[in-house]
Amino acid sequence: MKEGKLLSFIKGLTLLIDEQASEEIIFTRGKRILEELIREDDWLPEVLSKTHPDYYQQYLLYADPLDRFSVVSFVWGPGQKTPIHNHTVWGMVGQLRGEEKETRYHSQENGSYQAGKQSIFQAGQVATVSPNTHDVHVVANNLSDQTSISIHVYGGNIGRIKRAVFDPITGTAKPFISGYANAFTPNLWH
Ligand code: FE
Repeated sequence: MKEGKLLSFIKGLTLLIDEQASEEIIFTRGKRILEELIREDDWLPEVLSKTHPDYYQQYLLYADPLDRFSVVSFVWGPGQKTPIHNHTVWGMVGQLRGEEKETRYHSQENGSYQAGKQSIFQAGQVATVSPNTHDVHVVANNLSDQTSISIHVYGGNIGRIKRAVFDPITGTAKPFISGYANAFTPNLWH
């Protein structure tokens, strides 16, 4: 890992969160700090960029000790995608490598979920989710022959939050806790 990039991102975000910044401020000033982190793809340790043959991987990079935010690398093998899911906290997704496709889902009067806007994110771009605007989506690797990686920042310890996946037809919510794939977090000071 190139010295300092992840550490200075965490410092910047901690200072912003310490100001009790609103979601609007996090999505502007915090987004700029995240854009700086993903500007160059030369710092994520290889052990935290590894794909799994069957599942997309979520590696914890840092969790605020007060559970105010967490930083996770999402690593997608070719063709891998999430089920329809929510987050329950604000989130920013910065594309570090490859390309991802997001499809937003909207709950209907009959309880089902209907696919809405689709967006494709290239390296350097940042997407957001929020329970205040749109919290339910599907994310997929948009590349069929390459790994894609994004750096996710959430307004809580996302791997420990009880949230839900949804059946698109019936709308049934199945509770889940995502956890993390790694046993150890990176050394920020080496
Ligand atoms: Fe998501």
